[in-house]
Amino acid sequence: MTMNIVVLGPPGVGKGTYSGFLSKKYGIPNISVGDLFRNAIKKQTELGKRIKNYVSIGDLVPDEIVIELVKNRLEEADCKNGFLLDGYPRTVPQAEAMMKFKKIDVALNFVAPDEVIMDRIGGRRTCSKCGAIYHIKNVPPTIEGICDNCTGRLVQRADEKPEVIKNRLEVYREKTKPVADYLRRKDMVVEIDANYPIEEIDKIIAQCEKRISELS
Ligand SMILES: [Zn+2]
Repeated sequence: MTMNIVVLGPPGVGKGTYSGFLSKKYGIPNISVGDLFRNAIKKQTELGKRIKNYVSIGDLVPDEIVIELVKNRLEEADCKNGFLLDGYPRTVPQAEAMMKFKKIDVALNFVAPDEVIMDRIGGRRTCSKCGAIYHIKNVPPTIEGICDNCTGRLVQRADEKPEVIKNRLEVYREKTKPVADYLRRKDMVVEIDANYPIEEIDKIIAQCEKRISELS
C-alpha cells in the first residue's frame, strides 16, 4: 500500500499544520512546492535558475518546469512509501502529467467557511523584530501588541489584512476550481471538514486518518 496524498485547500485553512501531523504519524515526507521552489533557487540548480527568472518578476512558473521539479522530488528514495504534496497540481496540465508519473491515492480537500479563514488569518500578528507569530484570540501575547520574546512591536502583515485575504480566497477558488473538478471526475477527492477550533485539531486529523486507513 502507498500513501500518495495530495493536499488541497485555501490559504489559511491549516494545510501545513495537518500535513505536519500526518507526515510524522505515517513517516512520509511533507512536500511543499513553495519550498521546492525556494530550495532550487537557493541551490542555483538549472531548474532553480529558470524558476528565479519567473518568480523575480512575479510571473507564474510554467507548467513544464513545475512538473519536472515535482517529478524529480517524488522519485527520491524517501517517497517510496508515500508523500504529502502541497501546492501541486495547480493546473489541469499539471494534474494530467501527474497521472502519468505517479499514482495518486487520494486528494484531501480541507474546507472551512470563508469567515473562519478570515478570522484565522486576519487575527495573526507578527513581531516586527523577531518574526514570532501570534493570534489575537488563539495565541495572544501577554501584553497586547508587544512580543513576549523580544518586546518588539506586533504588526499585521499586508497580505493578512481582511480585504486582501478576501481577494486571495477568490483568486484561489477561481484558479484551482478546474483542478479540483478534474480530480473529482477521477474520484480522488475527499472533503475534510476543517471547521474546528485549534484545540480540536484532533477531529480534523481523525477524518484524515480514517480516509488514509481506507486506502488499499
Ligand atoms: Zn519578537
